[in-house]
Amino acid sequence: MHSSQNLSIYVHIPFCARKCLYCDFLSFTAEKELINRYFDALSKEICLNADTYKDYTVKSVFFGGGTPSLPDAEYICDILDLLHSKFIFGEDAEITIEMNPGTVSFDKLIKYKAAGINRLSIGAQSFNDDELKKLGRIHDFATFIKTYEAAVEVGFENINIDLMSALPGQSLETYLSTLKKAVELKPTHISAYSLIVEEGTPFFDMELDLPDEDTDRLMYHETKRIIAESGYHRYEISNYAFGDGEKNECYHNKVYWERGNYLGLGLGASSMIENVRFSNITDIMEYIGRLSASESVVSEKEELSFESQMEEFMFLGLRLVKGVDMDLFYRQFGKKAEDVYGDVIVKYKTLGLIEIDGNRLRLTEKGLDVSNTVMAEFCF
Ligand code: SF4
Repeated sequence: MHSSQNLSIYVHIPFCARKCLYCDFLSFTAEKELINRYFDALSKEICLNADTYKDYTVKSVFFGGGTPSLPDAEYICDILDLLHSKFIFGEDAEITIEMNPGTVSFDKLIKYKAAGINRLSIGAQSFNDDELKKLGRIHDFATFIKTYEAAVEVGFENINIDLMSALPGQSLETYLSTLKKAVELKPTHISAYSLIVEEGTPFFDMELDLPDEDTDRLMYHETKRIIAESGYHRYEISNYAFGDGEKNECYHNKVYWERGNYLGLGLGASSMIENVRFSNITDIMEYIGRLSASESVVSEKEELSFESQMEEFMFLGLRLVKGVDMDLFYRQFGKKAEDVYGDVIVKYKTLGLIEIDGNRLRLTEKGLDVSNTVMAEFCF
């Protein structure tokens, strides 16, 4: 899918209206003045990088965060204009912005569309106001619906809704009610993750009324069933696209799983270009300071060993329902996947967790249910 000269660009916008209680992303609140300085620095970073990537064709851009829809639309539109002027874009490049209800106006959506954004990813998480409150989200269901309807009215045809299960105070019933309302809206894409309580977040130190393990499993199975019955296909462990075929799948995220080239711009953003992984510094004042002196903001760089490349090929590729292409494995590494991973493949084939179909090796439905365990064994 990705020729070596294709490039996807991730742009990190680290600002949020308020910090959610479960959030461990690189995000924080900020005054207008800091936001202004950040976008100046980001523009500088783009200009500094442009020449290095002049032979690449940009196939997707993803504004993630944080809450990219929080700053005035002009900031995002100017960054996209700058990217267009400095990089070569492929026809029909997928341009996504993550947005959170409560930060989006009709006027903003019109500006995004005019600037060339063609995909929205809306952080709904739940349609139950009590659950949203417990998460520390700033929006309620009514605000989400207003945002969604405005997006449709403005003419966005490609919209993802993010949902979460295993939330404090959530029952199977309230979760199913959210899920059913979501599919009734018929977005082109649904991402459904379960909450993971991460160390260092307020949730980690709180007494949380979380669903028990059985309920958690039921939520997971019902997600698959209800979304599939509503005309979506699952193409990755947690991601569903409407209809058949790849049209509504998220191109940008598939680049991560299929190890295409991606350039991360902005605070803390990660990149992988031709098997070199690198990431930016995470201190915003240092980020602004270095760029005002035209210095690099890359903090860590690692050239992946041959073995790490094979590992990644397997454990990222197996997240996709279609699995990994074993012919491609051979072309890239000069070895057969069966020779490198013979024992693991035999073990999980016998257990019915892996299957081989032509040139593809993939997790079975049962294998996808326990994907972490299986994928871990593809690491050396
Ligand atoms: S909106 Fe998203 S990035 Fe921002 S604090 Fe909440 S979970 Fe974190």
